Amino acid sequence: MPPIAARDVAVIGAGAAGLVAARHLRREGHSVVVFERESQVGGTWIYTNKTEPDPIGVDPNRPVVHSSLYASLRTNLPREAMSLREYPFVAKKTGHRDPRRFPGHREVLEYLKDYATEFAIGELVRFDTEVSRVRQGENGKWEVRSIKRKEEEHHLDEAFDAVVVCTGHYTDPRIAQIPGADRWPGKQIHSHNYRTPEPFRDQVVVIIGSSASAVDISREIASVAKEVHIASWSTSNEEDQSLPGYTNIWLRPMVEIANEDGSISFQHGFKISADIILHCTGYKYSFPFLDTKGIVTVDDNRVGPLYKHVFPPSLAPWLSFVGLPWKIAPFPQFEFQSEWIASILSGRISLPSPDEMMKDVEAFYASLQASCVPKRYTHNMTGYQFEYNDWIATQCGSPKTEEWRKKMYSAASLGRKERPETYRDEWEDDDLVLQAYQDFTKQISCKGETY
Ligand code: FAD
Repeated sequence: MPPIAARDVAVIGAGAAGLVAARHLRREGHSVVVFERESQVGGTWIYTNKTEPDPIGVDPNRPVVHSSLYASLRTNLPREAMSLREYPFVAKKTGHRDPRRFPGHREVLEYLKDYATEFAIGELVRFDTEVSRVRQGENGKWEVRSIKRKEEEHHLDEAFDAVVVCTGHYTDPRIAQIPGADRWPGKQIHSHNYRTPEPFRDQVVVIIGSSASAVDISREIASVAKEVHIASWSTSNEEDQSLPGYTNIWLRPMVEIANEDGSISFQHGFKISADIILHCTGYKYSFPFLDTKGIVTVDDNRVGPLYKHVFPPSLAPWLSFVGLPWKIAPFPQFEFQSEWIASILSGRISLPSPDEMMKDVEAFYASLQASCVPKRYTHNMTGYQFEYNDWIATQCGSPKTEEWRKKMYSAASLGRKERPETYRDEWEDDDLVLQAYQDFTKQISCKGETY
């Protein structure tokens, strides 16, 4: 076995991914600095009622609000399936904690803070510090330029052996391209800037998209709005179809054109007069600080080329990304990816050659194309997150995903689809909950040995 090397590693972001990356890097013996522009850990899970002045987020110079959470948000995965493998997300019945199985967003933030405390990650984090530039110097080291809030005129340049990017991808809105939208007189907003339903009272609202957020937000808005029309590609009917159980939500085909007289025309000829378009159309990957001289690009929401969504082949393992895939249980996947990165940086395990990695990436892209998967779905892991996680586990020689977790994830996905109003409070997988807690109990009882 070659000796294990300790590296100087910069982690950008102290959301869930950055915390997990920092934990695994340090456990492997690396020196870690985490840069975080906010003043606390938690990333997305730090709720704020602040919104951006540009409600659809097209102005590149707008002040950025990181989190896209709305006030009423509860998790769409049960806490056991969301849970980090190393630090169980168990219900705490004390004080201000939310013991529900699908808890509100504050509980997730508390959990991440607990995790950071448990593994003393806070001491690695430089808060209020934004990374403004990352590039590879001529000596091969990575230069990280950072700026401390309130000291904007001073920046600090430091060199690291490696950089792990953990900056999240739910901040930069993606907008539906609606013909005529620029001349349409109504208001437009992206769900990134949605917090509460009150501004929609008595309004006629057109919601674009059918994501998890669209499902929650449409129902919440319908409690105060006059009418809610949900436009999506998956609705092709020509008839009026109200959502079962609601008198003021309609499912519509996609919007065809927004008209100057304030009306909206949908495909197949239906037309309404509307006040607000709410874009629930997802987000763009964005790394404004990253200068790889064109090696890593974001093209139609494909971040690439990346070997297994983590390493750019020609810069590996010195540049890596944690947390790019979606349609997954994110927290446990962050653990798999982080352990892999930490072990490769130390030399405990190795990567294929850059050429071999590039061939793998090209074969992956070709398989997407052959299956007619659009480029923007490159990091959509529907149907194969556990296979992917288990592949990494095999590389690292660590345990694969628990069977209960796989089944629980499927049960939750089905619940969301079949019972969107009730799945968070009624379920049928208590047997899996029991198995999860049996695992958690083992984990907690041998905690002293895990770090
Ligand atoms: P983030 O949490 O976004 O953290 C990124 C961090 O990087 C932030 O703290 C940010 O300030 C920092 N940062 C960014 N740029 C810089 C810079 N240049 N310099 C310094 N710091 C920087 N997941 C679930 O498991 N269950 C759910 O129910 C669930 N619901 C969700 C609902 C919504 C509305 C959204 C948007 C997401 C949801 N998610 C859910 C997914 C969620 O994003 C992940 O759980 C996870 O929090 C992502 O963590 P992250 O660390 O990758 O990104």
